[in-house]
Amino acid sequence: MSIWRVLRVIVILSPAFALVAFAGWYVFKQFDSQEGISSTDSGEKSRIVVVISFDQMRGDYPERWNSQLAEDGLRRVGSDGVWYANAHLPYACTSTGPGHASIATGVTPSVHGIIENDWYDRARGKKVYCATGERPYERVPSNNAAGSRTKDASGLSPERLLAPTIGDHLRSTNKKSRVFSLALKDRAAVLMGGKDPSGVYCFDTATGQFHTSTYYREQPHPWVLKFNNSNVADRWFGKNWDRLLDSQIYNRVAGPDDVLGESIDSKGLGRVFPHPLGNDQPGPGGKYYAQLEKSPFANELLWEFAKTCILEENLGQGESPDLLYLGFSANDLIGHAWGPDSHEVLDVTLRSDRLIAEILKYLETTLGKERFTLVITADHGVCPLPEVANQKHPEAARFHPGMELEPLSEALDETFGGAELGGGNWVEAIGSTVVYPWIYLNRRLIASRGVPLETVQDYATKWVGNRDHHRPGPTLKMIAGPPLADPLGRSIQLAYHPDRCGDVYALPREYCIPMPGTGTTHGTPHSYDTHVPVFAVGVGVPKLGKQDGKRNALIVAPIVCKGLGIDPPNGVAEKFP
Ligand SMILES: [Zn+2]
Repeated sequence: MSIWRVLRVIVILSPAFALVAFAGWYVFKQFDSQEGISSTDSGEKSRIVVVISFDQMRGDYPERWNSQLAEDGLRRVGSDGVWYANAHLPYACTSTGPGHASIATGVTPSVHGIIENDWYDRARGKKVYCATGERPYERVPSNNAAGSRTKDASGLSPERLLAPTIGDHLRSTNKKSRVFSLALKDRAAVLMGGKDPSGVYCFDTATGQFHTSTYYREQPHPWVLKFNNSNVADRWFGKNWDRLLDSQIYNRVAGPDDVLGESIDSKGLGRVFPHPLGNDQPGPGGKYYAQLEKSPFANELLWEFAKTCILEENLGQGESPDLLYLGFSANDLIGHAWGPDSHEVLDVTLRSDRLIAEILKYLETTLGKERFTLVITADHGVCPLPEVANQKHPEAARFHPGMELEPLSEALDETFGGAELGGGNWVEAIGSTVVYPWIYLNRRLIASRGVPLETVQDYATKWVGNRDHHRPGPTLKMIAGPPLADPLGRSIQLAYHPDRCGDVYALPREYCIPMPGTGTTHGTPHSYDTHVPVFAVGVGVPKLGKQDGKRNALIVAPIVCKGLGIDPPNGVAEKFP
């Protein structure tokens, strides 16, 4: 086709092009001017991105209890923005430390190194915690009544985090951006805050106050001291935690309130509604604050604290975008005690939804509709109480990790030789005393006996996989090797960091929990633990609505970057939208 002929075709078709362009513009304009939160993908920087993590909110709750949700909470976020209803964490270690580190960095524990809440440090021969480091820091303000600062185990620091957070990445290029991380739990606050935050604060049930550590600053921000002195935490003393809606709705939706397997009298709150706070106590003290933390009121307290932070720091009003992480931890403590099918978890979820409505309204009124992005997710899901799961899954059971795994030492003695060779334990750290699910073999002993390490690892992996409540898992050679096709195996690989993990990964069978007694837990690669909600709305978030396809929950990080108007740091593989 000659150039003239092409030009002639363009001239003939140009009115049609113009008409199509105009129609497109008109439709877009109508769509854009509809009532709702601004959802744009223009790349314009929002003034603040607020990331909310509900500790232990399983991804199925918003769907399961949709008809009990408010119009203007999660449902509105999902319809004005996006709701990934089938988002899963891609790694096996579904615990709080790894969860918050992954939310903040957008990479897996295999990269950021937070492989559990606690793990065994082979070089130092001791158990370490994810939110404290080797260098000592002091807690501020001190929990010592005399006010003198003392070195204690609460000297929090993000030292063990090996990857930059989105906040660190933001502040490395936008010096004027502020990053705050506020949570009830210390590990949530520390790991979401990253290495260079403007402020990290968490709640102390001994004193009822928010505190930080000298890693971050010598003295708390003045507004933190003011907030602590105002005794907001005492507001719920002597009150009852009762159901938000009529009890008949709870009976219909969640069955009876009193169920076998629930904690008997958690923190003195009782087993069934109503749960009294501060009962039989002369005034607010440690016992009351622990009760408060295990009630939905603790989330309200954190939101009061967050509003003070937004106001006093003028967050969202500066020259560069700000980032605020909020860790609502009450949901987890409640879920552990009563289980995901309880009236209590239903209630804290409904109240969390109402809290989202309040937060959304607050951001709209104080900042304006086009000045924020709100992202909501969770650090992990949870397993049902085995007593409840039993009805559908007869294999559901509780086990004691020590009793189940510690006989491994004898089995290794029998197979590879024991006392007659000079004694010594083949296993260095195992079971409940250190960190389930990893088992750390005694590599020095193995080397001195001249047995190939891999032979012992393989034997131990097979032995663990044959225990009553475990199933065969990959050997360490497989875990450390090329990507596995099996999804469970792959998720264990993404939970593996060679300097921090052990020699054997104990993979529990589905619905089997390492928790004798009562209550429930999480931490496995099974879908009830990996399924988390992901909601987002505001600047940088197109109006996509509910998405049912399976998604990687680490999509949270690129959503946050979109809201901030920055490119994700290297290593963040997920793309949004
Ligand atoms: Zn958690």
